[in-house]
Amino acid sequence: MFETTIAGSLPRPDWLAEPERLKGGWKLEGEALKEGQRRACREWIQHQEEAGIDILTDGEVYRRHFVHSFLEGISGIDQNKKTVMGIRDNRYNLEVPTVTSAVGRPAPVFLDDFKYTRSLTDKALKITLPGPMTICDTIANDHYGSRPEMAMAFAELLNAEALELEAAGADVVQFDEPAFNVFMDDVNEWGIETLNRAVEGLKCTKAVHICYGYGIDENNRWKETLGEEWRQYDEIFPALNKSHIDQVSLECASSHVPLSVMRHLSDKQLMVGCVAVTPDRVESAEEVAATIQEAMKYVDAERILPCTNCGMTPIPYGVALAKIRALGEGAALARSRLQT
Ligand code: ZN
Repeated sequence: MFETTIAGSLPRPDWLAEPERLKGGWKLEGEALKEGQRRACREWIQHQEEAGIDILTDGEVYRRHFVHSFLEGISGIDQNKKTVMGIRDNRYNLEVPTVTSAVGRPAPVFLDDFKYTRSLTDKALKITLPGPMTICDTIANDHYGSRPEMAMAFAELLNAEALELEAAGADVVQFDEPAFNVFMDDVNEWGIETLNRAVEGLKCTKAVHICYGYGIDENNRWKETLGEEWRQYDEIFPALNKSHIDQVSLECASSHVPLSVMRHLSDKQLMVGCVAVTPDRVESAEEVAATIQEAMKYVDAERILPCTNCGMTPIPYGVALAKIRALGEGAALARSRLQT
């Protein structure tokens, strides 16, 4: 009951990468970098186990960026042809590489690192991959006739990658689709279809992480424009409830998402965000338990997985550690209350 997990990323230690940055550069090179990433992964696996997290991740410490690190392993992309692009409906501008021919996957991208992570723990392990729609909103297109066409091409590559990760022992494959609550019409028109293609044939648990983004300034300003109640999920959850995805995440800690939107997901498990990813304060175990209990008004306890709201790359290491400990303690507290 109340199996805990995290959305994906955890901060990279300051000896490995520039801290508190989304794309902080590596401080090591070559073999030393690889060793450093593995050490950072070992440490986070141990921290998560000690915090009582049930479904672990590698903290994405092998990655520079959650989308671009995957794309660096993909052919058909000119990494030197940079295009300035308005990301997430022009929320912020980013200089991104450009797709210049049909995309391909010459070799597995995350498999070696995943096998190493798998060797570190017997607990359930989640691997995260960028979702097809979010990839298309993070790279420029100079080849495909349309965004849906390009998304489907990426979905096929992601599916091949996911099947190999599953064979290597992934218990959960999660696709990160923060673009899903920005382009709600597209989600219904082709986003779910490409996501279904990405999970085709997978027998492990299939998850999607949708969110309002990291707690960075650009996102915080955007959130201020969304009003008192954030109802974007109303537009996409009904279709997601019919998808081949097993688990859907939503942000419930310090957010404006009305928890009643969970009613749309009657056939799914919910990763309930119980800790926010802003660094200003750490939730107490009591607050985490209260969020879980609030979610139980809308969802059977069996379908609730307490989780972080989003990735924690940009926040200080110690704050993230305290937050996952609060998550583990809060879930334990909620469990104990169920039994009494
Ligand atoms: Zn997120």
